[in-house]
Amino acid sequence: MPRLLRERGVPIAGAELLDSREQLVKAVRRAMKSKIRRIVVCGGDGTQTSVVPHFAKRRYTLCVVPAGTGNSFALGLGIDSFESAADAVAFGNERRVDLGVVNGTYFANFLTVGLSAQVANETPRSLKSIVGPAAYAVSAVVPLLLHRPFRADIRWKRHRVRSKTHQIILANGRFYGHTPLSKDATLSDGRITVFVRDRTSTMSVVETYVALLRGAQANLSGVDLWSTSKTIRLKTKPKAPVSVDGCEFGNTPIRIRVARRALRVMVPACTEAHTP
Ligand SMILES: [Mg+2]
Repeated sequence: MPRLLRERGVPIAGAELLDSREQLVKAVRRAMKSKIRRIVVCGGDGTQTSVVPHFAKRRYTLCVVPAGTGNSFALGLGIDSFESAADAVAFGNERRVDLGVVNGTYFANFLTVGLSAQVANETPRSLKSIVGPAAYAVSAVVPLLLHRPFRADIRWKRHRVRSKTHQIILANGRFYGHTPLSKDATLSDGRITVFVRDRTSTMSVVETYVALLRGAQANLSGVDLWSTSKTIRLKTKPKAPVSVDGCEFGNTPIRIRVARRALRVMVPACTEAHTP
């Protein structure tokens, strides 16, 4: 990455290769203390989400490089390669995008409740680094066969959705994997998009995963897919695991809201209609 940036004439104050999220957060804080305004972070959704609390509502700009198993957040910014990330830093525009907030903690892109969270939490990092996104599919087989559906109670403002389901997805951003969670969702719409399917069979879970991969989830039977700018309260019975951008985040109940335009990022100069 430093080479791609230097080729584009970007002056680099320093570059570090880090082993853990803790080290990354320390490095980001050091850079901020040295008054470096633009900080490039290479990594997937989990890596990006671990640093966003330090950028939230501050004058520092996060430059996202998609280098993980899942890069949904980068995709939502119109960044799909190292080259486009380098172009965004060198020739792009600074924008402010939304962050999600779950139980008081900022996050970048999406969170899952139930089966997907269990899979994300149980997929070993070593497996992810060897086989990439297929690691999730490999790790999904056993939990899928054993997983029991749960009752969900989702409330926002004066609305309420009750469902018996295997999983719920809530997204601040546009992408879940490589496809948009809903056709209108963006990182700057001030809204959280919610996906829940009121179905309990194992077959329905497979069907949902395939539809999500193909971006065809809106057409499934029993689907509730909506978005709101209001705070969402989500309870489940029994308690279900929560995963935030692929990282473990305890169990339900949770409260989720949007922090509008809370994060400064660099986006490519020519952005598509749905990118910020
Ligand atoms: Mg949004």
